[in-house]
Amino acid sequence: TTCYLNGDYLPLAEARVSPLDRGFLFGDGAYEVIPVYSRRPFRIGEHLRRLQQTLDGIRLVNPHTVDEWAERIARIVAAAPFADQSVYLQVTRGADTKRDHAFPKDVAPTVFIFTAPLTTTPDSVRASGVAAVTAPDERWARCDLKVVALLANVLARQHAVDQGCAETILLRDGCMIEGAASNIFVVRGGVLLAPPKDRRMLPGITYDVVLELAAAHGVPYAVRDIAEAELRSADEVWMTSSTKEVLAITTLDGEPVGAGVPGPLAQRMHDWYQLFKDEVMRR
Ligand code: PLP
Repeated sequence: TTCYLNGDYLPLAEARVSPLDRGFLFGDGAYEVIPVYSRRPFRIGEHLRRLQQTLDGIRLVNPHTVDEWAERIARIVAAAPFADQSVYLQVTRGADTKRDHAFPKDVAPTVFIFTAPLTTTPDSVRASGVAAVTAPDERWARCDLKVVALLANVLARQHAVDQGCAETILLRDGCMIEGAASNIFVVRGGVLLAPPKDRRMLPGITYDVVLELAAAHGVPYAVRDIAEAELRSADEVWMTSSTKEVLAITTLDGEPVGAGVPGPLAQRMHDWYQLFKDEVMRR
């Protein structure tokens, strides 16, 4: 497929980046993943706003305006041979001629965009829900920034895979924070609980959609710290992300969550999410 690299559109297999690129040397860059349904990017404005927040947070000047990003993404999306996609974009602090931690002077950022088929969750998996494990959150203190330095997330996700699980839920100071690559919601006594968007977690675009849908459908919800004990005795636990959408976690550290099957609110939220997507895409 076609990708975008520093102003050029070229086959992905032909794209080349310097080994001195700071993304490669230091993980010094920002990224976004944008879901695309029927060739229409979903919540692109929100994703590009979060990109700006990340770039501001790491003191990297955004190389493009929102319109320039949208135009480049549209071209990549149009060139893909599949309609439902997940667009990945990345901006790094570029390639200097030497390796030095401090910011380089007069070095252009590296801008890369590519797309892949959107991998959807099979109905059978959705029907049973997925298994998750917990682990201490060993990431840094700015988990609100979507940066390419993802080693702690990589190790956390592999921890899940090693145990045949779909996700690792990260715990910090007795609180449930988020998944290695997803946000986590909890349902207790009919109330939807979400951890607050602070520096401990990534402010998910799907997280916002879920809370908007809860408000729109009159589901009582609270945004507050969720204790590990509350997670373990929850009626329902969900993971959310741009590619997983709303997915029920039905086993946690080998124990059933609630009844051990996707709960009623998870199923309703999934349906609302699908309807909302269809509605937005028709506009
Ligand atoms: N938390 C982390 C650590 C993530 O990597 C992601 C990305 O998928 C999310 C949460 C969910 O964010 P979004 O809903 O914007 O995809």
